[in-house]
Amino acid sequence: MRAEILAVGTELLLGQIVNTNAQYLSQGLAELGIDVYYQTVVGDNEARLRQAIQIARSRADLLVFTGGLGPTLDDLTRDALAADLGRGIGLHEPSLRKIEEMFAGRSAELIESNRRQAMLIDGALPLRNDTGLAVGNALSADGKHYLLLPGPPREMKPMFDNDGSDWLRKLLGESAALRSVMLKFAGIGESALEELLMDLIRGQTDPTIAPYAKEGEVCIRVSTKASSEEEAARRLEPTLQAIRARTERYLYAEEDIPLEAAVIRLLTRRRQTVTLAESCTGGMIAASLTTVPGSADAFLGGVVSYSNEVKHKQLGVPLTLLEGPNAPGAVSSETAAAMAEGMRRAADSDFALSVTGVAGPAGSEGKPVGLVYVGLSEKGKGVKVEKLQLSGDREGIRIRATKRALYLLWLTLTGQGEFVKE
Ligand code: ATP
Repeated sequence: MRAEILAVGTELLLGQIVNTNAQYLSQGLAELGIDVYYQTVVGDNEARLRQAIQIARSRADLLVFTGGLGPTLDDLTRDALAADLGRGIGLHEPSLRKIEEMFAGRSAELIESNRRQAMLIDGALPLRNDTGLAVGNALSADGKHYLLLPGPPREMKPMFDNDGSDWLRKLLGESAALRSVMLKFAGIGESALEELLMDLIRGQTDPTIAPYAKEGEVCIRVSTKASSEEEAARRLEPTLQAIRARTERYLYAEEDIPLEAAVIRLLTRRRQTVTLAESCTGGMIAASLTTVPGSADAFLGGVVSYSNEVKHKQLGVPLTLLEGPNAPGAVSSETAAAMAEGMRRAADSDFALSVTGVAGPAGSEGKPVGLVYVGLSEKGKGVKVEKLQLSGDREGIRIRATKRALYLLWLTLTGQGEFVKE
C-alpha cells in the first residue's frame, strides 16, 4: 500500500509552524509496513486542497490528512474531501454529545461552529479523540482509503496510534503485518556501522535492514512481513545472528532503550553499583542515569568536581597532580584515574566513572578543546583511562563525553572492557 500525507494549513506554508505531524505519521506508517511516497503541504484553500486530493489519489492508495477538522470556516478538509467524493456530511451524535457535555461543564455557550467538529463524511468510521473535540474520519471509496486526523499533535498522535492504526491494520489484513526488531548501537558512528554491514544491507530483500535515524543515537531496524510473532522470529533470526556476529562490541540492546537503561539493567542484574566524578560533563551522566526508572538500585550518586579544590578535597586528587609547572594538570590521564579511584573509595561502590576535559570554547592548561579523559575504577581490579579527542561545540563535546563514559562502563560490564591506558 502506498500512502501520501497531506498536511493542511496556511500556517505551515508561512513557516509559522513546523510540519512535525508529517514526520510522526511517516514513521508510524513505515512501522505498519506502508510506504509513504509523497508528503504534501497545502493551505486552507478549497480549490487548491481539492487539487491536492486529486493529485494524491492519482499516485497513492491511502491519503492521510492532518489539520482542518476544527470549528472555523477555514477548516476545510472534511468538506473538501466530501465534495470531491460526491458524498454528504452528517452529524455524529455521540461526538456532538461529548462536545455539549464539555461546554455544559465549562458553562460556556456552544455555538454552531463547534458542531462542525462532530461532523462525519457519509459512510466514514468515526475515530475517537480523547484529547480534543474534533472527531476523526476514516473511509474507503472506489479502492482508495482516506484517514482524516486533527492538526494539533496532542490530538493527532493518540488518534493515529489508537483508532487510526487499528483501522489501517484491518485494511492491511493481519497476514501482511510488518514485524521488526530495533537494534541499538553505541561506540560507533552511523557510517562506520553501515560499512560493517554493507554486504548484508546490499543483499537484503526479506528481512530488510534499515538504518533508523534518531537524535544522537545509532539504530537499525530489521523487519519482515509475517502472519505471527513466531513466524517473524524465525525469519528475523538468521539476519540478527549475522549482525550480532559483526557488531558485538557495539550492539547494546535489541529493543528501543537508551544506553543508560542498558547500563542500569546490567548493574542491577549483577547487584553492583556505580558512582560518578564529573568535571566537564557537570552532572550530565548523573542526569542521564537517573532518567532510568529503578536506577536507584545501581546508581549511588556522585560529585560534580569542577574546580581543582573539589577534586582535591572531595575526591582526594593529590595537589601535585593538579598544580605546579610540571604537574600533569586537571585535564590528564593521571587526574582522571585519581578522580575515579577517589570517588569509588569514598562511596565504596563497585565502579566509579570520572570525566575531565576541555569542553571549550577556549582551551585550558594549554590543552586543546575536545580533549577529554574518561576514567573507570573497578573494585578489586584497579583503574583504566581512555583519552578522547572529541569534536563539536561545548554542548556536543559534553554529550559525546557522557555517551562515551557510559559506553566504556557498558563494555566493561559485558566483559569487553580492555581499553587503552594512555
Ligand atoms: P482544531 O480542532 O484545534 O481546530 P484542526 O484539525 O482544525 O484543529 P488546524 O486548525 O489545522 O487543525 O491546526 C491547529 C493547530 O495544530 C495549529 O495551529 C498547529 O499548532 C497544529 N498543527 C496543525 N498542523 C500541524 C502539522 N502538520 N504539524 C504540527 N502541528 C500542526
